[in-house]
Amino acid sequence: MRKKIIAGNWKMNQTPKQAKELCTLLKDKVNTKEADVVFCVPFVDLYPVLEALQGTDIAVGAENMYFAESGAYTGEISAAMLKEMGVKYVIIGHSERREYFGETDETVNQKVKKALESGLLPILCCGETLAQRETGITIEWVRIQIKCGLFGISAEDAKKVTIAYEPIWAIGTGKTATSAQAQEVCAAIRQVLTELYGKDVAEEMRIQYGGSVNGKNAAELFAMPDIDGGLVGGASLKEEFADIVHYNK
Ligand code: PEP
Repeated sequence: MRKKIIAGNWKMNQTPKQAKELCTLLKDKVNTKEADVVFCVPFVDLYPVLEALQGTDIAVGAENMYFAESGAYTGEISAAMLKEMGVKYVIIGHSERREYFGETDETVNQKVKKALESGLLPILCCGETLAQRETGITIEWVRIQIKCGLFGISAEDAKKVTIAYEPIWAIGTGKTATSAQAQEVCAAIRQVLTELYGKDVAEEMRIQYGGSVNGKNAAELFAMPDIDGGLVGGASLKEEFADIVHYNK
């Protein structure tokens, strides 16, 4: 039985002071052993959030990292830097990074490799545009993203990766995929994981759905057999995040 993983993606929101306040508001409400709860926050918020969440079971994640070990990469943050701080997870290849910051399947793969080598747990994002869905190529597209993102990753390491299926047309739009649409793609992702790593490993790996998850739709989405939790943007910045974490109550 896979444990659910519910991760908030704060995106470019919350100054360090606001981050502390948000942790104070949320931490008791979302602290649970029933699911893995993660706050993925901007780099400058990592220290205050790690400090504010001390003594809880809530893990902290970054929203990005660079794949080089160190060196002349002005403005970038390495996996080793995150690891030393006490960061556990890192989101890799979010569609906003692919769209606005030129991330490709190749850089995503390099980042996944480096994260794993450094002891971080990657949350690898994939998902189709509305045009791709309407063209009927969603499954092919997502299969390619997964195969490229995990290229060269061993089965042992793959178990440490969480996949986040996020249809781009559903991110921040208030337009959620239906539970059937989300399940169809998550099942296809599990199928490609089976082809890559075999059934046992694929059954162990967690697949999140992301795209306008809220306190009302979480229960139906997370009840789907191949959906193991959510990657949550907007609603992770509000008390509503607690309703998502406690979706089954
Ligand atoms: C996201 O940021 O990954 C996301 C799914 O955002 P939202 O929940 O706001 O759609």
